[in-house]
Amino acid sequence: MSNELVLPGDVLGVIEEYFPGQGAYQDDDGNVRSQIIGIPAFDLKGHVATVRGITSPMAMPKKNDVVLARITDVKSNIASAKIFQVEGKHPRSPYLFSGFLHVSRISTSYVKSIYDAVRIGDVIRAQVLTSTPPYILSIRGKDYGVVLAYCSSCLGPLILRSISLYCPRCKKMEKRKVAFKYYIRLRV
Ligand SMILES: [Zn+2]
Repeated sequence: MSNELVLPGDVLGVIEEYFPGQGAYQDDDGNVRSQIIGIPAFDLKGHVATVRGITSPMAMPKKNDVVLARITDVKSNIASAKIFQVEGKHPRSPYLFSGFLHVSRISTSYVKSIYDAVRIGDVIRAQVLTSTPPYILSIRGKDYGVVLAYCSSCLGPLILRSISLYCPRCKKMEKRKVAFKYYIRLRV
């Protein structure tokens, strides 16, 4: 079972695997696609793919919301993320929403490489700039950025020591665009 949200037009499978059930349709190329925004379900015995619509639209992030998201991919100038929490709305959204972070939305000053700001697996606190998924995110400003980062060598959580992130296991520093409220700070 997946809790991954699908959008209208997202491919659920091919007609050889599944018939389109409620919330799904077949396109001219034999793909079974989602008709609505919702959570897919696959009946493996009956070979039917259905999509259950989101019952709580409150769970959807809106423009100007503050969200928590996990970085899932980092390319040369863009990072992909999955939003899992909208601040002040749901303690934890039952859905994941796709978001994108462009290198120009990391800081008010020039950022040369997105790899200096976020890495795969990091949790970011970000502002939502658009109204529908995939959401465009911003981590400009001191309140936004990485709130939890993981060591690129041992995958252990990094600790914020003054202004640098430090791996106590590997005894090395890593660079990120850290939010003011980073989760794990060195107690002195
Ligand atoms: Zn480490």
